[in-house]
Amino acid sequence: MLSLPAAQEKVLHEIRLLGAEKVALVQVRGRVLAEDVVAERDNPPYDNSAMDGYAIRFEDVSAASRAAPVALEIIEEIAAGSISRRALGPGQASRIMTGAPLPEGADTVVPIEDVRATSTRVEILASIEKGDHVRPRGDDIEAGAIVLTAGTCCDVGEIGLLAALRRSTITVRKRPTVGILSTGDELVDIDEPLAPGKIVNSNSYSLAELCHAHGAVPLIHPIVRDSKAQIRRAIEDMSDADFILSSGGVSVGEYDFVKEVLEEMNARFRFWRVAMKPGKPLLFCTLGDQPYFGLPGNPVSSMMSFLQFVRPAIRKASGFPANDLLLPRSAGVAGNRMVNDGDRPNYLRARLELVDGRLRATTRPGQGSHMLTSMLGANGVVQLDPGQVIEEGDAVELQIIPPFYT
Ligand code: AMP
Ligand code: MG
Repeated sequence: MLSLPAAQEKVLHEIRLLGAEKVALVQVRGRVLAEDVVAERDNPPYDNSAMDGYAIRFEDVSAASRAAPVALEIIEEIAAGSISRRALGPGQASRIMTGAPLPEGADTVVPIEDVRATSTRVEILASIEKGDHVRPRGDDIEAGAIVLTAGTCCDVGEIGLLAALRRSTITVRKRPTVGILSTGDELVDIDEPLAPGKIVNSNSYSLAELCHAHGAVPLIHPIVRDSKAQIRRAIEDMSDADFILSSGGVSVGEYDFVKEVLEEMNARFRFWRVAMKPGKPLLFCTLGDQPYFGLPGNPVSSMMSFLQFVRPAIRKASGFPANDLLLPRSAGVAGNRMVNDGDRPNYLRARLELVDGRLRATTRPGQGSHMLTSMLGANGVVQLDPGQVIEEGDAVELQIIPPFYT
């Protein structure tokens, strides 16, 4: 049986980068840049004042202090949004507001707090340094510089920067579309009557939300029955999706037909089982060049398999860099006793909290792969090797389940 890392590598090997599309700046959050962004202009675009105060020539006031103030003549007021009409000469100052462009001749700003002023005269009371409170042109960004590189995921900071660069549209990677097939004769949808022996289809919903959260577009297929013909038709219905996920039907039960159908469709199998708990029966194949993930039906297994396999695939297809595809790892400390008495590595769902500067992982007692409650509040995974016993306070290896888009 393949280890989790070996299986992840096999998946990623099959994933191709998607094409690019142009989107409006307001839609760019969480998207991955498909272009390097070059600054076409300096930011700030001109030398400007960082304070409300007085623009002056440093040489006029270099000796000023509270004990020996220097007086200057005020020749103008420059508000943010306007420009100066008069160059400063010796002994002159201009009243200036935060963000307003410096007048010609000025090289320093004295904040309003450090002067005594009338409408025509200003006394500089504090000693100052040349260039104080001036934000030079290009201080933040110089024209011609590459400020963002392809592969960067756009968050708030990137969006602010792109706006400052007047980029109303940006070229980003397409989001992968993901066909979601929940299989099972026992499944009913959430708003259907629940007859005896039936189970509510929760996987379509959790998998669709995982798609949303990790940068893909889910395409939910109606419930697929355990019939080879229906499974085949559903797979064919999703032939335009970038990936297909199915849940259920990949184990060794009498009615687990997914693998058989894929065989009949000439899928190329990459693996069928992974040494992990939850999530052992997990099939990965390609149908032509379409990657297909046959996730286990157990609700927790399907979510965990998504995070370990589908999320990295989404990220690779969306242009994230190779070192940022898998769940991030961290060292941490156990918040409770944890035991793996099985023969496969365990991936326990945990709540991570920062306690005394360390990530403390607490697991819920119920970790069964059918126990939806084990996912509640889970923002991390604790890895436990077969036979490993961890006591509260011991060091543990963690995977972090990131919030949206990170
Ligand atoms: P399977 O992998 O088809 O053997 O299913 C394993 C377990 O997961 C069974 O208990 C199923 O009832 C349950 N299951 C399968 N599909 C879903 C689903 N879409 N939503 C919730 N539970 C499911
Ligand atoms: Mg089933």
